[in-house]
Amino acid sequence: MRRPCNNLPGAQRTAAFRPLPAHSCAPTACNKCLCPHTSLASLHTAASCQTGTPIRIAASTAMNDRLKCKIGPSILNADLSQLYKESQRLLDNGADYLHLDVMDGHFVPNLTFGAPVVKCLRSKIRHAFFETHMMVQNPEQWIEPMADAGVDQYTFHIEPVKEIIKTCRKVREAGMKVGLALKPGTEIDAVRQFIDQADMILIMTVEPGFGGQKFMTDMMPKVQWLRHNYPLLDVEVDGGVGLNTIAACADAGANMIVSGTAIINAPDQRAVIASLRETVESSIHKCSV
Ligand SMILES: [Zn+2]
Repeated sequence: MRRPCNNLPGAQRTAAFRPLPAHSCAPTACNKCLCPHTSLASLHTAASCQTGTPIRIAASTAMNDRLKCKIGPSILNADLSQLYKESQRLLDNGADYLHLDVMDGHFVPNLTFGAPVVKCLRSKIRHAFFETHMMVQNPEQWIEPMADAGVDQYTFHIEPVKEIIKTCRKVREAGMKVGLALKPGTEIDAVRQFIDQADMILIMTVEPGFGGQKFMTDMMPKVQWLRHNYPLLDVEVDGGVGLNTIAACADAGANMIVSGTAIINAPDQRAVIASLRETVESSIHKCSV
C-alpha cells in the first residue's frame, strides 16, 4: 500500500510550482510533484504515479535553481577607520558578500558613507559581491554613483519611492541587481506587486538606522509569506541577526543573512559565519529533500 507524500511543507508547493491535487507515491521515489524535490533526476511515469501527467524537469536546471545560503556581514559597527582591513578579514573568514549600509540623515536619523567610500573599497577589493543597503530618501539620486563605484546590488527602501518600477528599471539599466527593502512597519502588501521586478527582498528585523538593536521576531511572518509564495526568491533579513536569532530566520525561509555586531565583535568570526551558514543550509536542505 502506498503512503501519503508528507515529506514536503505546504509552503514548497506554491507560486512558481503549480499546485497539484493531493496524491500518494512510493516513499523512495517521490519525484512526481512540482516541488523542490523534483531536483531528483528521474522522470516519473504515469504507471507509477497517481497524479496524472508526468512532468519532466531537467536535473541540471533544477539543481541550478536551488536556493543558496549567503552570509553578508554588515560593516556598520566595524572600525570604519580600517574599512578595507575589516572587510577583507570578513571575506577571508567566509563571508559571501559585503552588506554596506548607506544612510543619508533624512530617511534615517544617521549618516554613514556614500559612493566615494564604496569606490575606494572596491579599488582594494576587486572581486567580492557588494550590496549597498540604501537607507536614503531619494534612492534614484545615487544609482549612477553607486554603479560607478562598483556596486553589484542596489537595495533600496520602497517607503519613500513614488515610482518603484521606474527606479528598479534604472538600477538594472545601470548594471546592478535590484533589492527592495521593507521597514518593520511596512506590510508585505506594499511590495507584492513589485516582487517580479526584484532580485531580492529585504525584510528589516529592526528599525533601520543604527546597529546593535534587538531582533524583531514578529517580522518572521513576512519572510514566511515570501518563501511560501516565492520558493526560489532571495529573501534577506537584516537587524539583530546572530547566533541566538538565526534559527528563527532560517525556519521562516530567509537565505541571505545580514549580521553585524554578532560577526564583527566575535573573537572567532570564521566560527560564527560557519554556524550561521550551517543553520540556514540545514533549513534549506530540509525543504528540498
Ligand atoms: Zn543593512
